[in-house]
Amino acid sequence: MFRHIEAFAGDPILTLNEQFVADPRPAKINLSIGVYLNDEQRIPLMGAVAAAEKQLAQSFHPHPYLPMAGSPAYREQSRKLVFGGANAERIATIQTLGGSGALKVGADFLKAWFPQARVWVSDPTWDNHKGIFGGAGFEVKTYPYYSPATHGVAFDAMLDQLRGLPAGDVVVLHACCHNPTGADLNPQQWRELALVVQERSLLPFFDIAYQGFGGGIEEDAFAIRHFAEQNIPLLVASSYSKNFAIYGERCGALHVTCKDAGETAKVLGQLQSAVRKNYSSPPGYGARVIGAVLQDAQLRAQWEQELTAMRVRMKHIRSALHAELQARLPGGDFEYLRIQQGMFSFTGLPVEQIRKLRDEHGVYLIDSGRMCLAALSNAGVAPVAQAMVQVMT
Ligand code: PMP
Repeated sequence: MFRHIEAFAGDPILTLNEQFVADPRPAKINLSIGVYLNDEQRIPLMGAVAAAEKQLAQSFHPHPYLPMAGSPAYREQSRKLVFGGANAERIATIQTLGGSGALKVGADFLKAWFPQARVWVSDPTWDNHKGIFGGAGFEVKTYPYYSPATHGVAFDAMLDQLRGLPAGDVVVLHACCHNPTGADLNPQQWRELALVVQERSLLPFFDIAYQGFGGGIEEDAFAIRHFAEQNIPLLVASSYSKNFAIYGERCGALHVTCKDAGETAKVLGQLQSAVRKNYSSPPGYGARVIGAVLQDAQLRAQWEQELTAMRVRMKHIRSALHAELQARLPGGDFEYLRIQQGMFSFTGLPVEQIRKLRDEHGVYLIDSGRMCLAALSNAGVAPVAQAMVQVMT
């Protein structure tokens, strides 16, 4: 029966991680996977999360099904985190299985109601964008995004491409901390982009998987809030995986901004329909934890402080690696480490050098040259810099 089935090639990032685990060298360093590690090289358990879990464990909770749209309190808190307080009646929000689940439900919703649209993703992007939108039946195309020369956004080329698209095409945008490049649009560029999106009647689908990892919780939501203020209809997939370090509990949300309360109710109904056909209803535990943190002033303040500390740590590691590289190779251009933000940077190292880093120095980056700075400890900075300089010279 199953003889014709082909082997799954595996996910390149997860496969590399397995290779890292099997590597016997004690000094090996894994900068390939997209996970934030603390300086002790562990996924942190945030204090606010632990406190909320403790409170929950002390009260009796059965395990009912959640509604298709998820926990009402969690949905409300999620909407506020992304949009601020504005326009509650015009935003349809559902709880989802992480950011991935939000993208998937959003993609199914769009395919049902905008079957002719094409989906445009940045070149490069998080690989699974192609998988999820392609899997929902869309033709997925790319728009120019990254300029290796400036280590920033190829903004003019991006705008030129988007200006040529037909009305109704979907444009996937990373709201902050672009994965994999770390290169983000500045506020002025977001404003210009909003004008083009409006002129061309494009449908933006924001992906915000790192809110609080770039400039701050509010700053990182700038683009979404600006587009919403311009009354541009849009979708948002938001994720708590990173900013609550709650990866395995699969916590995210999908938001769709609408014209009025009537439209919101219809959209919400169709999102529920998409959920029903995929997995019926989302899981309860993580939503309870996050809801408890965001609703309680003290826990929320604690969470914000801890999130700030994570952001500061990443910026510190960026500066430290920059300084270490610059000292070892004064002619090199490592400014990108300080300009780019979030967990990742694009090193621009060619694939032969990435392989040498891995094979000869036990420093693991993925072949594209993306480095996860959020996984680098203070102790790892000097050996990584040394290894990079050795393969570069
Ligand atoms: N979008 C982007 C850009 C991501 O980097 C990730 C996580 N790596 C996701 C979405 C998915 O988030 P989650 O793990 O919450 O499904």
